[in-house]
Formats: sequence, C-alpha cells, structure tokens
Amino acid sequence: MIEKDVLVIGAGPAGLAASIEAGKRGASVLLVDLNMYPGGQLFKQIHKFFGSSAHRSGTRGFNIGKELLEEATDANVEIWLESTVIGIFPGQKIAIEKGSDSGEKKIITITAKEIVIATGASENAIRFKGWTTPGVMGAGAAQTMINVNHVKPGQKIVMLGTGNVGLIVSYQLMQAGCDVVSLIEAAPKIGGYAVHAAKIRRAGVPIRLKHTITEAIKGKDGTVCGCVIAEVDENFNPIAGTEETIECDTITLAAGLKPTMDIVKLSGCKLTYNGPFGGFIPLHNERMETSIKGVYVAGDTTGVEEANTALEEGKIAGVSIAEDLGLISKEEADSSRKEIWDRLHSLRLGPFGERRMVEKETVLNRYETIVGAPQPAF
Ligand SMILES: Cc1cc2nc3c(=O)[nH]c(=O)nc-3n(C[C@H](O)[C@H](O)[C@H](O)COP(=O)(O)OP(=O)(O)OC[C@H]3O[C@@H](n4cnc5c(N)ncnc54)[C@H](O)[C@@H]3O)c2cc1C
Repeated sequence: MIEKDVLVIGAGPAGLAASIEAGKRGASVLLVDLNMYPGGQLFKQIHKFFGSSAHRSGTRGFNIGKELLEEATDANVEIWLESTVIGIFPGQKIAIEKGSDSGEKKIITITAKEIVIATGASENAIRFKGWTTPGVMGAGAAQTMINVNHVKPGQKIVMLGTGNVGLIVSYQLMQAGCDVVSLIEAAPKIGGYAVHAAKIRRAGVPIRLKHTITEAIKGKDGTVCGCVIAEVDENFNPIAGTEETIECDTITLAAGLKPTMDIVKLSGCKLTYNGPFGGFIPLHNERMETSIKGVYVAGDTTGVEEANTALEEGKIAGVSIAEDLGLISKEEADSSRKEIWDRLHSLRLGPFGERRMVEKETVLNRYETIVGAPQPAF
C-alpha cells in the first residue's frame, strides 16, 4: 500500500495551492485529478484575471495554471492524472481508479495522514422540452471545446444565463468565430459583472432579460436547429402568447454552478445547506478542516466562488496540514493563516462581496457549534 503524508483530490487552483504549501514545507504530497491535464477550470480561462498583483491580475487563467504547476513541481508534489478518487474508507484509506478510458484501468489504494478535498463545482442543468437533443450543452463544455480542444461546438449559439460564466463564455465563443445569436436571462437584470456584459453589448448581441427557453427544436438530422423562447412572469413562469423562435444549432446553458460533493459525502463529514454558495457544502473551520480530523476542504467544493478565493483557501488548508504534521509551529501557521485570511477578506469585498462574506462567516460560526459534537461515523 502506498503511504503519503497528504493526498489532495483535485488539481484546480485550490488543490494545487494546498499541495504547494504542504509540499514546500517537506510533506510528501500526492495530487490526483481525473482529467488528462492539471489546472482544473484554469486551463479553460483565456481571459486576464482581475484583482491585485498578489492575485496575478492581468495574467490569463491558463498562465496562472502553468505557474502553479511549476511551483508544485518545485515543491516535489507528485501528480497523477486520469486518476479518479472513488472511495474514502476508515483509517484515511483512499481508493483511486487510475488509467484512461482507452487504456488499462486499475484500482490503487493509498493511505494518507491528511486529505484535502478540492473537487470544484459542476454546472446546473435546466430542463425544457427537447433539452437532451444533441446541440444542447453546458457553457463549461462549450468553453472546454473552444479553449482546450480548439473545436467549435456549433456556428449559431443561443446562451441561456447571464452570470459571469454565461457572459465570459459567450465572448470567448465569439472570439472563436461562432455567431452568438442571443443571450436569454430569466431575471430582470444581468447576473454577471457589467464589464463582461459591456463587451457583449458592444458586439451588438441582444440580451433578452425576463425570458427563458421553453423548447429546443430538433432538425431532420436529430440535432438542434432552433429554440423557442418566451417572456416570464415574476415567478419565472413562461407567459403564453409571448413565444418566439430563434434559429440556432447550439444551446449553451449557464444556469449556475453547484459544489461537487461526491467525495465530501463519501468522507462522512458534516454538511450544511447554503443557497448563495450553490447548495450543500461541507462545514469547515477557519483552518479549512471539516468535522473529521485530518480531512480538509478548499475551493468551489466549500461553496462556489472564483479561482483566487479557491487558491487562498487551498493555501490555508496546506498551511494547516503542515502544522498538523509538525513541519511548522502553531505561531508560524497562525501568522501565515492571518495573512491569507486578510487577502481573502479583501477579495470578498465589493459589489457582491459584503453579502457573501457574511454568509461565509455564518458557515464558520455554525461549525463552532458542532466542534464539540461526536465525530460522524464512516
Ligand atoms: C464550468 C465552469 C466554468 C468557469 N468559468 C470561469 C471563467 O470563465 N472565469 C472565471 O474567472 N472563473 C470561472 N469559473 C470559476 C473558477 O474557475 C473556479 O471558481 C475555480 O477554478 C475553482 O477552483 P477549484 O480548485 O475549487 O476547482 P476546479 O478548478 O474546478 O478544480 C477541481 C478539480 O477536481 C477534479 N476532480 C473532481 N472530482 C474528482 C475526483 N473524484 N477524483 C479526482 N479529481 C477530481 C476535477 O477534474 C478538477 O480538475 C468556472 C467554473 C466552472 C465550473
């Protein structure tokens, strides 16, 4: 059986940051990811990041990913790709399915003193008539096709949702040479940042607020050839008689993200429900430790935010693990954590930040009330 100090699940910004912080202080770290490439969502992000220089503002997402990978290599982090964690068992045993779909697959069991779950988020689906027709896909899938695989998902695209993912992916689809016909949004206002929306508007693409897609129309070849949209009332129900047909070959859905909770649930740690953060999330304290000693969480798994907050949470987990392993003193860990928390607080300020910060603190406070409670059984 392979034994490691630390197993990190998920090689996005959160998992990479946790690995680097623990690895550079001398822990033996194994970082696993089910994808063929490390970097999580960062490798799809061709736009420049906002924020301060501490958060690499002005650098494109995929370049941040490359820098983090170099740092992980320098910190002696071992990385296994095409490796999916499929189980966590008592005694910090972890089962990993290693190997590609086209090649041989095997199950490997390892033990780790400390585990970080940084499995990110997944896209919400929206159901309407014909929603399973080929040509209907998540905006994240379309983003992977254009930015990673360099394949256009289609030529005439209708985007559902105007959060940041909907706006950014629409713009990137245009950059890739697709014709974004319209953005459809059920809410009365655009969900994402004005700076992203302005780029769409400048390109002359209509953004239809208070509307939804009610049907994907199937063409003779069985794939999407259009969609029906309709105005919605204040309860988001389509208003009869307002239907319009839009010609398109692809419908992309950007209807929000939710934390990927499979491994968190398997670990047996305590959960809480938090709507603004995307649904069920693991309770955790300010060290990013869950209700199970030695099991940490970081990034979108703890509630959907963005890459920089994921990175900072990963760093906190890595520092706390180095402290658990006796590689740094409590004083050093406290001081590092304070620095990182200060940066996290500043990241979370802003038009939406103040409200989210309160939500996050509520989660932390609620953890305090269960710390003394018995550990949940596996
Ligand atoms: C579809 C999508 C599009 C986005 N687009 C943008 C954008 O355009 N701009 C922007 O600023 N932000 C975007 N974000 C948000 C931002 O990228 C994330 O907030 C950030 O990447 C979160 O980092 P993370 O490390 O928590 O998760 P991720 O970057 O998602 O990394 C999680 C990793 O865990 C791996 N994983 C999951 N389960 C397992 C398992 N069982 N075993 C092994 N590995 C596993 C996944 O393969 C993935 O690589 C997007 C997010 C999503 C989900």
